Amino acid sequence: PYEVLVVGGGPAGASAAIYAARKGIRTGVVAERFGGQVMDTVGIENFISVPYTEGPKLVASLEQHVKEYEVDVITEQSAAKLSKGELIEVELASGATLKSRSVILATGARWREMNVPGEQEYRGKGVAYCPHCDGPLFKGKRVAVIGGGNSGIEAAIDLAGIVKDVTVLEFSDTLRADDVLVKKAESLANVTIIKQAMTTEVLGDGNKVIGLQYKDRRTDETHVLDLAGIFVQIGLVPNSEWLKDSLELTERGEIVIDGHGSTSMPGVFAAGDVTNTPYKQIIISMGSGATAALGAFDHLIRN
Ligand code: FAD
Repeated sequence: PYEVLVVGGGPAGASAAIYAARKGIRTGVVAERFGGQVMDTVGIENFISVPYTEGPKLVASLEQHVKEYEVDVITEQSAAKLSKGELIEVELASGATLKSRSVILATGARWREMNVPGEQEYRGKGVAYCPHCDGPLFKGKRVAVIGGGNSGIEAAIDLAGIVKDVTVLEFSDTLRADDVLVKKAESLANVTIIKQAMTTEVLGDGNKVIGLQYKDRRTDETHVLDLAGIFVQIGLVPNSEWLKDSLELTERGEIVIDGHGSTSMPGVFAAGDVTNTPYKQIIISMGSGATAALGAFDHLIRN
């Protein structure tokens, strides 16, 4: 068995594996795809001390750093069940079972997509999911935010300080965001909120986004907005479906952790975007991976 088994090979998992291996304990990583969401990222400008890098390049460095240590890295395997006997067991979709004295869950999350024509084609070319990451790329330009929940309205307020103007498109007839955020957004001269708007297509010129088309659900009329960027803010879904019977999750499915990264199952820790940490970023997930590994080590020396 492993002393520490990390499930997930994104920045949180890689960081947890390095911190665990540096304690000289038997460490394994099992992941569907090494690198996680970072593999899908084009430019990264907020990984502190590295002014600019690109997703695949950062993933290559992560992998190289992990390989400096004796870590068993198993990829293209998906964890399907977590249970506890004498040891903690992670059952894979392939049917195999991995056993460990402690487990760190770092399975990340995925942005909910609009599923409209043009979205995939222009992903990273104007279609964005993270205002903290990509907001500055649209300085002085027109953008839309899709979704009028807390993350959408927060994004609109955030972007309004950088871009020329922001149009928020909300599908229903009410905004689900907190009142204080809605009031703030409505007070900004360069923010427009359109309700009952269903985005139907991302428009581009072959290289980048030039606008979007939406349908007014009241009148069925189609409208076009000229834009440089579209921030999709309709939800970040944690990859925790397989854990709902074994761990305490929030109502959104995030794994509940404490300051040591401990979950509701003794010996099981979690880190990164799959947890209830409020902000989801590379640098934050790496920090939480380190915390979870130190938490796991602390658990091992006490048990
Ligand atoms: P993830 O990166 O999601 O990694 C999860 C890992 O778990 C993967 O290896 C995956 O294969 C694996 N996995 C999932 N389920 C299972 C399972 N059941 N069994 C086994 N393995 C599993 N953040 C920034 O700080 N700066 C940016 O510029 C930036 N840009 C972004 C751009 C895009 C397009 C996206 C999508 C995200 C961006 N982010 C950015 C956010 C950042 O990528 C995430 O916060 C970060 O990757 C989270 O790390 P993680 O390790 O928690 O999860």
